[in-house]
Parts: sequence; C-alpha cells; structure tokens
Amino acid sequence: MEWTMAPSGMAEAAGKVIASLLQSGREAYYVGGCIRDELLGRPVHDMDLTTSALPEEVMAMFTRCIPTGLAHGTVTVLQDGYSFEVTTYRTESGYADHRRPEHVFFVSDVKEDLRRRDFTINAICCGLDGVLVDPFGGARDLSARLIRCVGQAEERFDEDALRMLRCIRFASVLDFAIAKNTWRGLLRQRDKLAHIAVERVRSETERIIEGPHPWRGLGLLARSGLLPRGKAPFPWTGTDLAAAAAILPGIGELQSARLRWALLLHALGQSAVSADELLRAWTFPGATRSAVARVLRVREAWDAALASAPGGSGAEEALRRRWIAAVLACGTEAAEGWLTLLEAVPQAACVTLGGAQPPGSQSGAGTAGEPAMPFRQPAPASIPLRQNISAGDAHASAAPLHIPPSRLRSWMAGMPLSSLAELAVTGKELSAALDKRPGPWLGELLQRLLHSAAAGDIPNDNQLLLQEAKKDGFK
Ligand code: ATP
Ligand code: MG
Repeated sequence: MEWTMAPSGMAEAAGKVIASLLQSGREAYYVGGCIRDELLGRPVHDMDLTTSALPEEVMAMFTRCIPTGLAHGTVTVLQDGYSFEVTTYRTESGYADHRRPEHVFFVSDVKEDLRRRDFTINAICCGLDGVLVDPFGGARDLSARLIRCVGQAEERFDEDALRMLRCIRFASVLDFAIAKNTWRGLLRQRDKLAHIAVERVRSETERIIEGPHPWRGLGLLARSGLLPRGKAPFPWTGTDLAAAAAILPGIGELQSARLRWALLLHALGQSAVSADELLRAWTFPGATRSAVARVLRVREAWDAALASAPGGSGAEEALRRRWIAAVLACGTEAAEGWLTLLEAVPQAACVTLGGAQPPGSQSGAGTAGEPAMPFRQPAPASIPLRQNISAGDAHASAAPLHIPPSRLRSWMAGMPLSSLAELAVTGKELSAALDKRPGPWLGELLQRLLHSAAAGDIPNDNQLLLQEAKKDGFK
C-alpha cells in the first residue's frame, strides 16, 4: 500500500531526520501511533521514528539530540523546533516483572522491530516513499476497526500487563471492537495487572474516562474485571462498576474531565471524603482531587437539605436558603459543576450514597463492551421533595415537589454575592463598630451576615450590614 503523510511542519521536520539517516546508509521510518492516527484521519500529536542505525550512530549524526534511553535504543532528536524519539530496531525478551523487558537486542530487520509492538494497528511503519510496512495486517484492522495483539495475545499481555489497559484505552478512544482472541487473552491474564505501577494504571484510566467514548471504556473496564485486580485501590467488583456505568450513558457529554470523575465516583456511591482518599491513592494531582471532592460535597449538602426539609408552604424557601448555604460552603464552581452533571446525566439524581444498584441482568464478558441498559427508568431531571400534608388536607398524597436543576441555577444566579471576600464589611470594621475584641464570634457573625446578604435578606451594603450587626440577634 502506498500513501503519503499529510503535510505538516512536524511531518516535514521528521522527514528531514529520516532523510539524514537514509543518506548515511541506514533505514528509517515513521512508526506506530502517528501512522495509525494518520490513516484514521485523526490529529497526530507526536511522531516516533524507527531506524536500523545504532543509538550511538544517531547521537553522532545529529548535533541536537538527547540520550533519552540509550539502553533501549532511544535517542530524542531535535529538529526545527520539534522533538522526535528515534529508536533503533530492537527485539525484547525476559519480562520478569510483567512490564519491562530484561534484555533488549538491536536487530537489522524492521519487521522484527514491528513484532515487539503491542497491537497490529500500532505495528505499521512508513518510509519517505509512502510505502507502508505492515506485516501483521494493521491497515486491515484499522479498516475493520479492530484491536488485535501482534502474535499470541495471552503471551503479549503476560509480557507486559499494561498492554491490557492500553487495549481497552485504544478500543474506547477509537471506538473499536476487540478481537476475540485478544479479549480472551486479556481475561486470562487480567490478574497480572497487579504488577503495574499505580501511576501507569491511573494514566491509562484517565485517558479512557477523559476520552471521546468514556461510556464504552467503562463498559469494557467493567467486563474485563481489570481494575479490582490492580495495585490502585478499587473497592468494587466489575459488577459494581457495570451497575454504575449503566446509569451513565451521558458521561461523555460532560466536557470537564473533573466532572466525569465526580460523576463516576458519585455513581459508585463515594462520599466526598472517601473520593478524595481514593483519588489520592490513585496519585491524582491535588487540584483534581479537591475539585472532584467539592462537587461531591455539594451533592452531600443538597441531599442533607432535602432530607431535613420542612414541609408546608415554606418548604421551597427553606430549600432555597439551604441551597445558597451549600453554594457558599462549596463555591459556585462546584455547585455549577454539580448542576451541569445532573443536567447531563439526570439518572445521577437517584443514586444514593451506597452507589448504583446492580443491573437486573449481567451480560457475560464479550467484545461488544457496552454497559447494560439502565436498571431503572431515568428519574426526571429534578430533585423530588416530599411535601408535608397540610392539616386541612388529610387526603392529599405526599406529592413530590420537584426542584429542577434550572431552579437551583436561578437561585444561584440571584445571589448578590457568593464569598466573604465580596461582603461589603470586614471583620475589622465589625470588631470596631461593636467595640469587641476579635474572637470566634467574629467569624460566626461574618458567616451569618454573608448568608443573609447572599439570600437577599439584607443588601450587601457597608452601613446596612453594620447596622444589622448591631441588632440584638447579631451580638
Ligand atoms: P499515543 O501516543 O496516542 O498514546 P502511541 O501508539 O503512539 O499512542 P506510545 O505510548 O506513544 O503510543 O508508543 C509508541 C509506539 O510504541 C506504539 O504505537 C507501539 O508501537 C509501541 N508501544 C508503546 N507501548 C507499548 C507496549 N507497552 N508494548 C508494546 N509496544 C508498545
Ligand atoms: Mg505516541
């Protein structure tokens, strides 16, 4: 098959590196992910090159280069502002830790190099002449939208257990099926995931959840049973994950990666505190952890508000105040996030802290990888509240009062301020006006003023706030 790399600054720069290697009598090709993505018409974010030149020859040939992994044959060559990993053709052997080869041998046949690669779609290379070298039918599998191991799947996953997650990642991101033998091999080797570092598991899982088809990825993860077998704590079974996934077909509609994680942890029944601990154990950065936990705190505050809401005509106003209190406690961004999440996945409103219920039927492991249908009818995109029956209306049923996310959003939009920093009075001013030394009372007073001003009881005005503070109730 003949084909040309789409013109781009990066392809041109990589082409110059290949041309230099060819001029010195060596072979060199574009290889792996860049060919796969080019053939699929997907954007190419980096280009790897493979060559018959030995690493020291590559080092000698290019003035600007970095010895990234000489023992494994990799040199990073800098060209026209781009950097390219140039790796010598190699084979590998002895994967004692189910991740890294113990021995690497440089070889002279590019097909040998392609054989060590994980999937057929990643084992294609292409020269400057546009001729594809594709000994394992990668281009055919790309057309068939299939992930297939190069060689025996069971063996390949045993050598490097990370490949199992890469398999699910590629199937999910590309929305490809997984070849039967490859899936069978994965199921047989899934216990080996225990050998893979938490960071690697996290990074692949992130790419699945944050990619274009996270629901498909969740279905495959659930069916594979991989995550409960990894080093990273995962206190659920594949069935629990399938139950959570079943109510999340809309997860891919969330643009924010953090909201996707919040939604998943919510569906798995995690509290804000336990979600934070879990994300820490999974080595997520602190900023992600706290943003996700804050969204779950909004959920908790709102659940508590609903659980203890008074009945009768004042119910809605009481809820408005509690919602405002939740926004003040967790921040507008987290509150906004929680509402966005509910709007994208209305079913999330019916998940309780225990997590989603298992679906009625479990389909066996297979290659289709879709989660089962939702186990119950989606709830309306609103939050039910039991209305108290008024004294004179003994026959009235406890009709649920629905507070749709749009109402919560408009309550939030109506808040004149949402943080202490915006309050038109300072602690210092209050302390002076009340002639009292600062103490814990001051923080409490500031909070009361903030809540009153945010709820619209008093204007956010310096004089009026001071006046309010002087009233008996605020002393
Ligand atoms: P992406 O960069 O989008 O993750 P990629 O295919 O380029 O996709 P890399 O991790 O950059 O993935 O690896 C480059 C190439 O190296 C792959 O295309 C594949 O040929 C090979 N490769 C990477 N990881 C493995 C592995 N664990 N086992 C075997 N081959 C691998
Ligand atoms: Mg790559």
